[in-house]
Amino acid sequence: MSNRHDRGVISRYRSYLPVSDATPVVSLNEGSTPLIYSAKLSSLVGREAEVYVKYEGLNPTGSFKDRGMTMAISKAVERGAKAVICASTGNTSAAAAAYAARANIACVVLLPAGKIAAGKLLQAFIYGAKVVAIEGNFDEALRLVRELGADGRFEIVNSINPFRIEGQKTASFEIIDELDEAPDLHILPVGNAGNITAYWKGYREYREIGKAGTLPKMLGFQAAGSAPIFWGHVVEKPETIATAIRIGNPASWEGATTAIKESGGGIDVVTDEEILQAQRWLAAEEGIFVEPASAASVAGLMKYVSQSEEATPLLKNLPLAAKIVLTVTGNGLKDPEAPTVHGFKALEAAADIQSVARVLGVN
Ligand SMILES: *Cc1c(COP(=O)(O)O)cnc(C)c1O
Repeated sequence: MSNRHDRGVISRYRSYLPVSDATPVVSLNEGSTPLIYSAKLSSLVGREAEVYVKYEGLNPTGSFKDRGMTMAISKAVERGAKAVICASTGNTSAAAAAYAARANIACVVLLPAGKIAAGKLLQAFIYGAKVVAIEGNFDEALRLVRELGADGRFEIVNSINPFRIEGQKTASFEIIDELDEAPDLHILPVGNAGNITAYWKGYREYREIGKAGTLPKMLGFQAAGSAPIFWGHVVEKPETIATAIRIGNPASWEGATTAIKESGGGIDVVTDEEILQAQRWLAAEEGIFVEPASAASVAGLMKYVSQSEEATPLLKNLPLAAKIVLTVTGNGLKDPEAPTVHGFKALEAAADIQSVARVLGVN
């Protein structure tokens, strides 16, 4: 399945990934996403900071999940799997369905009924997955997936599958390749905590082979109503508008706490209101449209910047010209209900020049 047009993360970082000539590469040319300099976020932070946004919404199915899925599906096919299964808040199922379609294997997705953004649900259907909506949340769906996967009929492609983490660590490689060094601080949203685990793994591996001299501090943000790692206990009924991080019992909890502790970073929360405000700010001020969960990293940086320096030693202790990278994890187009949430409304006019001029206030 590999061919000369394949520019995905497995071809790009082959020697750092557990693949061999026997691995059939199932790729959609994921990865190599833009690292966008934000002058406005940089000046918000002040001093001589440089803030960059890693725009993962430009992956083939619109989220970073594609990096892990190219690995998980390639390894599943290598092992002869005929079907994969996952629980999902939406983006994992979109990626699993797409890569399974490309590999000609079956895909089953278990989703919390009524809690999936419409665009993500459409993706699962259009890529041909079998969609099961369960009357329960993501954590319950993942428990069922673990049971269904136990007898080997289905290959589990959630981030408890270690190949997912392997694929996702390539985002750190890309950042170092582009900056020629590791950032000082890396901020990202945290749900099931696979991604913060993967980034930390990638940063450490690249430093070990001398591609970077330092490691970033890892700072994760959870939604206030779904913040088990922040509180230090499972949240039975997680709630947030940011459905991609609506998780009460993260599978990679330990990976996250290790990354935070080893890097000297932190974990904190942002409210739904702060998330929506940051989503709108990033689109209107920088032209980058992300889904609500992704905006948690931007909301988090803004929250830290607005607090007194005493309250945020993490920012204060950064070098003067700190490089800060924010991962924005998924594409804003996945969630077409956003206009209602934000209360957007078009101006209305009759189809004549006077009416249009009048509503624009230019007559
Ligand atoms: C999956 C996902 C997250 C959370 O990532 P974890 O690895 O579960 O912590 C955040 N944002 C988006 C858009 C996602 O799809």
